Amino acid sequence: MLGKDHVSITLGTVFPFTIPLIFSENSQPVYALCVLVAALIGSLAPDADSDGKPKLHYDFKIIYYIMVPLHKLIVFSFSFFNFKEKMNLEYVVEEQHRGVMHSPIGVFISSFLLTLLTTIVGYFIFHEINATLIGFLFLGLISGQFLHLLEDSCTVSGIKWLFPFGTGELKGSIYTGNKIEGKKDIRPFLYRVFLLFFSAILLIFHSLGTIDVNEPAVYLFIFAAVTLIWGLIFLIAKIDNDNLWMQDAKKVRELERAVDRIGKHDTVRKRRKKRYGN
Ligand SMILES: [Zn+2]
Repeated sequence: MLGKDHVSITLGTVFPFTIPLIFSENSQPVYALCVLVAALIGSLAPDADSDGKPKLHYDFKIIYYIMVPLHKLIVFSFSFFNFKEKMNLEYVVEEQHRGVMHSPIGVFISSFLLTLLTTIVGYFIFHEINATLIGFLFLGLISGQFLHLLEDSCTVSGIKWLFPFGTGELKGSIYTGNKIEGKKDIRPFLYRVFLLFFSAILLIFHSLGTIDVNEPAVYLFIFAAVTLIWGLIFLIAKIDNDNLWMQDAKKVRELERAVDRIGKHDTVRKRRKKRYGN
């Protein structure tokens, strides 16, 4: 999906949850803003692992420059467990983009690292730590990135949810970019409309006094409604989950062989380096 689709669908999903934060009696607009900004960053972050020149680089330079070193750091940290090759593997096996940042494990680690880095920088600047704000930051980052995976699952490229441990994937039928010449897939636009409509209804109900945003139960209602909308999004995207639980033996073998190849290549290179010094 395109950057702007990721941003709008993610913010459309997260915004209803911030309505009670903004409009309740002891409102916390700062926390709401923190979640929304973090979700915005999270919605774009996974595309940092795209092959070649990712669109993220042109559209949102700042986020690209934050995420690329982070992506490298994650791959590096996995090298201790010999996961490094697996993490880079998708580049080898497929021509497609999408590596570790497009997987739940990458989403979790990058959200954690980004929160940690922000906390450290924040501490040096303000000399204090606001635990609630940090909590909201993490929540925004992880939900933004998780939603990115859900959104990409609706596209024909799909997402390997078990990566790097399995080949299972979820994919839909949405084409993004200029795959079909002269035609435009309007589903991302339609999703935006659904989500915006729900936020509008919520705001109208609040102003009419039909719902009480001070009640914690309002979050349950929002969660149920947003889940329902996402069910509809998946339905319209014609998500194919047949392959999620099936391990493709051929692909697994390909993965293993590719790991082997990289491993051998590395060993040969190291030996050569030892012997000849280059
Ligand atoms: Zn993506």
